[in-house]
Amino acid sequence: SSDNQDTVKTICPYCGVGCGIQVRQGEEPGDVQFMPWGEAPVNEGRVCIKGGAATEVVDHEDRLTDPLIKEDGEFREATWEECFEYIVDELERIRESYGSDATGFFGSSKTMNEENYLLQKLARRYGTNNVDNCTRMCHASTVWALRTSLGAGAMTNSMRDLREECDLFWIQGANPGEQHPIANSQYFRQAVLDGATVIQVDPHANKTTRSFQIDDTDRHQHLQLNPGTDIPLLNIVLKTILEHHEEHPEDGWIDEEFVEARTEGFDHLQETLEDFDKEAAAEECGLPLEDIELAAKKYAEADNAAIFTGMGMSQHACGVDNVQNEINLALITGNLGRPGTGVNPLRGQNNVQGTCDVGAMPNVLPGYQLVDDDEARTRVEDVWGFEVPDEPGLTNVEISHQFGEAVKGLYVMGENPIMSEPDANQVAERIQDLEFMVVQDIFMTETAKYADVVLPATTWAERSGTVTNTDRRVQRMRGVGKVHENTKHDLEILSEVGTRLFDEGFDFDDPEDVFEELRQVCPIYHGMTYDLLGEEGLHWPCYQPGDEGDPFLYEHEFDTESGKGHIEGVSHQPPRETPDDEYPLILTTARLEEHYNTGTMSRRSPTLNRQTPENFVDVHPADAERYGIEDGEKVRLKSRRGEITVEAQVTEDTKEGVVWTTPHFAAASANRLTNDVLDERSKIPEYKAAAAEIEVGLEP
Ligand code: SF4
Repeated sequence: SSDNQDTVKTICPYCGVGCGIQVRQGEEPGDVQFMPWGEAPVNEGRVCIKGGAATEVVDHEDRLTDPLIKEDGEFREATWEECFEYIVDELERIRESYGSDATGFFGSSKTMNEENYLLQKLARRYGTNNVDNCTRMCHASTVWALRTSLGAGAMTNSMRDLREECDLFWIQGANPGEQHPIANSQYFRQAVLDGATVIQVDPHANKTTRSFQIDDTDRHQHLQLNPGTDIPLLNIVLKTILEHHEEHPEDGWIDEEFVEARTEGFDHLQETLEDFDKEAAAEECGLPLEDIELAAKKYAEADNAAIFTGMGMSQHACGVDNVQNEINLALITGNLGRPGTGVNPLRGQNNVQGTCDVGAMPNVLPGYQLVDDDEARTRVEDVWGFEVPDEPGLTNVEISHQFGEAVKGLYVMGENPIMSEPDANQVAERIQDLEFMVVQDIFMTETAKYADVVLPATTWAERSGTVTNTDRRVQRMRGVGKVHENTKHDLEILSEVGTRLFDEGFDFDDPEDVFEELRQVCPIYHGMTYDLLGEEGLHWPCYQPGDEGDPFLYEHEFDTESGKGHIEGVSHQPPRETPDDEYPLILTTARLEEHYNTGTMSRRSPTLNRQTPENFVDVHPADAERYGIEDGEKVRLKSRRGEITVEAQVTEDTKEGVVWTTPHFAAASANRLTNDVLDERSKIPEYKAAAAEIEVGLEP
């Protein structure tokens, strides 16, 4: 165990870039200091503002230090023994009264592979596939489209090959300048300094726009489209390429050889676009047609073009189709299976990739083996020694929709659904209908306040395990030991609950012991051991010890049944809620560099909180004039589901008719306003487009 070493090498707990940092244990238990790690494989010592401030929350005064049980609506301190007995009794009671599917399990993309592995095993041993994590909120649709059409739900390429080989960065609905600062500065910006072009497709100008100086050069473009018009925009690009190829096949805009040998479905795309009207679509997007055609030309003419896709694409009721259209573009131009190309979702949390890899999702077991694939399931069952239900379970938003109805119990490890789910006011109502909820976390989150039992866990700096970053690199985290005596690591808690419930299968010595079992059931991790991971980590897929792992995927074939990449034409689907007389504005949401999702950690970090202490809304100058809004004035932002009071920032960063705000701040979170309609297949909610109205003239 690495407990009690003075200085350890570990990984930043915030975003999916996976920067290495060091943590030093000072004299006192709470004295945990940040130190750069100059040789770290991803970042070579550099960090962004969040990474540098990451140790600030480890010894925060708000830390939960003792277990709590709620009695008559109030929390009282309890012993661990009392809590474990209570949890086991309640989980057993719920299963006996209502069946195994009456309990839901939420894993966390902020906790480690070993912990999420054990949580999903606990759910499955309990007899349910109702286990999920917050990837549902960020890239469920991306994962769905990539997995079905190419093979794996992950970045096709890696930061390093993109930095070295990419000539054109097509960044749609992603904001690496803000959300993946080190990937942006150390990899993508370097490629751009060496001559690569950037096409940014986003309704909102942001740090990505500014970091590439997109507005200042002829080389780059920012296509500032209307929210929810990504499909028409890409259809214009696709049709432009098809038309050009018809007239000038010698230019090779379409890679005929690649399409013939490695793809299926090209005809379907052609048919879909046959009667497609580019003029009308450009109007829908709110952009001049020539600008989109020019971007199409640049993409098609680049030697190596890579697509970056983010939540601006995924968080729509048509999220799967949005990403499918990006896959279509990459496939017809042959921009896959080579360095510097691909379709690359930049993953949000430090372990959102790993949480999915290890099976904390309702439809897959570790390594994306489908629960309804009999052969795969049996292989896992043989190692585990118990049967797993053969039907996919409910996703987290579906579980939330069933609180008090089909779902009576909830086990939450490190997630904060009351703030992270859309239509948050309703989630707070429904959660009170649960018969029993246990939350293990480091702070009293907005969700934990409603729990029956709250278990004090340890922070990232205090424990060990592995996490998987956005380009599939599995890396070790190492802890310096506990700050508070009476807290427990997530893994210890799960191990204890599992052993008390089921006697066998949950008793592990340490994280490495859990990883050894994970390897046996997760083929893409099978070749990894803690020793082999060392300080560099390894990319998956890594099937056998000694495999180097693949920095880019699909060199020879796709990981689909036919081995071919799947093309499928898609058509425009407007957001489910569009502006009308009562709510005439389009509301869209996104995150800030200094804060992290529901802000549980970042709002408690003095350095980060100083940067942006409160929420705000971006309003276009023309709208500001119409409403009579002064820059800096407090306004009420409303949707059909709620209202928040925020400061208005009058700025051309947003488009006329579009207002933009963030989910980080509890009282004024965007998610009190967002719409909880779901993409039919991936069940991701439509955070990125809702109808809204602004009220001015509030009492000061
Ligand atoms: Fe941490 Fe991401 Fe910043 Fe790196 S870029 S220091 S991983 S938040």
